[in-house]
Amino acid sequence: MGVQTVVDLRSDTVTRPSSAMREAMAKAEVGDDVYGEDPTVNRLEVRVAEVLGKEAGLFVPSGTMANQVAILSHTQRGDELFIHRESHAYYYEGAAPALWAGAMITLLDGSEGLFSADDLVQAVRPANIHHPTPRLVCLENTHNRAGGAALDVTRMDPVINTAHNLGLSVHIDGARLFNAEVALNVPAERLVREADSVSICLSKGLGAPVGSVLVGSNAFIDQARRYRKWLGGGMRQAGVLAAAGLLALENRTRLAEDHRRAQRLLEGLRQLGYDAWGPSRPTNMVMIDTPGPADSLVQEMASHGILMGTMGSQRIRLVTHWDIDDTGVERALSAFAQWQGAGRHVG
Ligand SMILES: *Cc1c(COP(=O)(O)O)cnc(C)c1O
Repeated sequence: MGVQTVVDLRSDTVTRPSSAMREAMAKAEVGDDVYGEDPTVNRLEVRVAEVLGKEAGLFVPSGTMANQVAILSHTQRGDELFIHRESHAYYYEGAAPALWAGAMITLLDGSEGLFSADDLVQAVRPANIHHPTPRLVCLENTHNRAGGAALDVTRMDPVINTAHNLGLSVHIDGARLFNAEVALNVPAERLVREADSVSICLSKGLGAPVGSVLVGSNAFIDQARRYRKWLGGGMRQAGVLAAAGLLALENRTRLAEDHRRAQRLLEGLRQLGYDAWGPSRPTNMVMIDTPGPADSLVQEMASHGILMGTMGSQRIRLVTHWDIDDTGVERALSAFAQWQGAGRHVG
């Protein structure tokens, strides 16, 4: 780690498994998980359910499949799903809720990727033959397109409780839930206590090569297991992956280092005059708004070995992770200091 010459700030998905992970993968006890016989997968599912305070878990190949299996399990064709306009499950998962679940999406707005309880009340129409059946609310924590915003229970719980009062179920896309846990200093279990289902990614800041886990009630997970099979996500000796996932769960507190480095990046970029920003409760991301095309700054930095991603034509996202050390952060900042082009906000 830190030996490669490229500083890859595109995403926390780019980490490679540690040697300890590779060793655990090599030694993993395995069986056929479609028969429910992979002891390592079973252990991972139980462990994540325990950590998040839910009855059962389901290991799936990706965060996208976790979200889509959740939506399938909560809804029937023609049901209505309420989701923020900037949410991953809407913005970055193709037309999946329409394709698989046949759900109708109603988009809501609000700051930092979260709408208010009031907005939800306004959006839910009374039962009537003219309307879809309101069924599900999907929330996201941390919120990716809001710059990795960690959302505390004071903001989440009123929305979740209101959804329940309206007879809706609630799924939380917690791809980076443990970043919220660390940033807010609130146990993940508490952050999702009121929700019906939660998905987490093992393959982002936690550093596993592959995998997500969906958790919820026993009945919900039984249903989800059928839908995972539908989508082709029933894997066989998946214990080799789950073994890495179990180790990844031990990396939760290490996320604080990513947050510290993101903060250093943010401060350094601002000192250099960039229009860099983060959410009110930041985690492992920094956003830069560029007056000109974001692409030109991304390309210029790439030529210096600093990789970043865009989020729209005039926004860049930088993500810290396990493979970014303090030297990487300083190298990125000195490359930014040299750039005098259209990405530079002032002087
Ligand atoms: C990455 C991500 C996902 C999807 O995970 P994949 O494993 O890439 O499919 C879902 N939700 C959020 C918020 C994410 O950041």
